Formats: sequence, C-alpha cells, structure tokens
Amino acid sequence: MSDIMEDINRQHWMHDLLGSLEVGIVVLDRNFNVEVWNQFMENHSNLRPSQIVGQSLFKHFPEIDADWLTLKSEPVFDLKTPVFLIWEQRPYLFKFDCNRPITSELDYMYQNVTLFPLSSLTGKVERLCMLVYDVTDQASSRLNIEGLNDQLTQMSRVDGLTQLYNRRYWQERFENVFKLAKRRGSENTAIMLDIDHFKAVNDNYGHQCGDKVIQALAALIKNTVRETDLAGRYGGEEFAVILRDSNCDNAQIVAERIRKAAEEMEVTHEGQSLRFTVSLGLAAFSTQFENEMQWLERADQALYKAKENGRNQWVTS
Ligand code: GH3
Ligand code: MG
Ligand code: MG
Repeated sequence: MSDIMEDINRQHWMHDLLGSLEVGIVVLDRNFNVEVWNQFMENHSNLRPSQIVGQSLFKHFPEIDADWLTLKSEPVFDLKTPVFLIWEQRPYLFKFDCNRPITSELDYMYQNVTLFPLSSLTGKVERLCMLVYDVTDQASSRLNIEGLNDQLTQMSRVDGLTQLYNRRYWQERFENVFKLAKRRGSENTAIMLDIDHFKAVNDNYGHQCGDKVIQALAALIKNTVRETDLAGRYGGEEFAVILRDSNCDNAQIVAERIRKAAEEMEVTHEGQSLRFTVSLGLAAFSTQFENEMQWLERADQALYKAKENGRNQWVTS
C-alpha cells in the first residue's frame, strides 16, 4: 500500500474511533472556531460537522459566555497546561438535553470538561482540544445523596409531632447559647413550659386528642417567639424556650402572651372542643451559672412554683 493510501486508511479508522467514543471531542483554534466535532457532539447538539466546522463555537452556543471561556482557556494556550471545568462549579458547558427518564429531576446533561493544548510541529499551541464527559448519573446520585443527608439531618433534629427541635438537639444548641452568653454576657431568658392537668386531657378525650393539643401549643409557641429564639419539645407536654437578647422583663411579656393565647385557644377533636392552660417558669441568664443545667434548673424550679401556686401562670425565678 502506498504511503498516501496508508494515511487515508489511518484517517478512516481514527475517524471511526473518535465517533465511537462516549465522550465529546471538539478541537478549537485560537479564535474558538471549530475544527473537529465528533459523533457524540453531533448526537447531542443535532449539529453535523458540516454545519459547525469552520464557524465560531459561540455562534451556535449562546449559553457559553465567550469572555469567560476565553479567560479560562488562557493557560491552555499560554502555559500549555490543561484546564478542568467541573460540574460542581458549573453544571454544564453545552446545554444538552438529558435523555434519562430516571434522572428526570436534572433538566440538562451535567458535564465535566477538560481543555488541553494541541501543539503544532513548531511547538506552538494553536489549538485546544475539549473533552466533554457526560456526568449526569454521577451528579444525580450525588445530589440525591446530599438531599437525603439534609433530610436525615433535619429529621434527627426535629420532633416528629410538633416540628420543634427535639430534646437532644435543643440541648446541644442550648449549650452553645450558654457558652456564648458566658463569653459575651448577653441577656437571654430561659422558659420551661408545661401543660396543666394534661393527664386529664388524655383520660377524658383520648391520647390522640392529647397529641392534637401538644401540636396546637407547639404551633402557638412557634408563632409567638422570634425566629432567633430557641424552642424545643423537652418532654411529653413540656417545652423549653430560650429567648435571645431578652431580659426578664421582655420575657415576662412573651410568657404572658403564650399563657393568654393558650387559655383562649380551642382545640376540637371528633366534634368535641376543649380548652387547656399552661404554666411557665422563667429564669434569666446569670454569669453566676457554672453550666447550662444550673440555668435550666432555675427555670424548672420557677415552673414548679407556678404549678404550686395554682397553675395557668408564669413565675420568675
Ligand atoms: P400538671 O399540671 O402537674 O403538669 O399535671 P399533668 O397531668 O400535666 O402532669 P404531668 O405533666 O406529669 O403529665 C404528663 C402527662 O402527659 C403524662 C403522659 O401520659 C402525657 N404525655 C406525655 N407525652 C405525651 C404525648 O406525646 N402525647 C400525649 N397524648 N400525652 C403525653
Ligand atoms: Mg403537665
Ligand atoms: Mg409534664
């Protein structure tokens, strides 16, 4: 076979090789005109090589910011070093549809892209090669796992019945509030709250109705305190709240608001309506406390007094 035939033959099977790869291959000159456009790129863009070769890449893909890609490609041309574009930073370079029904929550094909220099015989870099990898499956499972992890974290912190923080997480946050208050001496007040004669609610109306009362009270607390306050379900029908940047006077106003709203609230269950009251114990933060439990203990003692004094009231320690 002559050398020319050998060359043509080689080009032929190399063309097949480029076509069969599940990777996008694009060769661009320094002005970002397309020189090579393989089968993968054709399949996903619906542009045949004859429709794009010799033309500017940006003309066909307005989603690619020309200034940005030019800047990104500088090291490829000037330093002869490869550049990697990863989906975590930019989901895709080419806005190709994602053809997977299973991963339909992702609208486009996620891509990792490698840009590397192609030097000519003189050693000058006049072209760059772009490899486009479809990483949709990888991105999709990573995003799913991250979503699930967020959900699990959220679930481990929140009480299922009331959507308030559960005791364990509340306690963890409370420790931080205490440490911060100790360091900066800010004004915070702890409130312990317990439903009055709750056993009677369960006995007279049933446990399900009791749950409904707990939910209603939790919603009331959430609506009364500020976003920055720390509200949790501390026990069965017992709640703990830390009012941030609130001295005892401010906290008394909040406590009274909760007490009154609870007293006025009507819970209906299976056609029956019932009312309930709550007792609250307040304790302002003091630098004298050695640990956060001493602080909470104070609030609990105040709650005990409120119960002793006849319930449906707040007491300050
Ligand atoms: P007091 O006014 O002294 O607080 O009287 P009380 O009847 O409320 O007494 P206590 O606080 O000791 O009673 C708590 C009751 O709450 C006992 C328990 O059966 C009930 N309880 C605890 N957790 C739940 C829950 O998740 N759902 C329901 N329905 N009841 C609960
Ligand atoms: Mg109670
Ligand atoms: Mg109780």
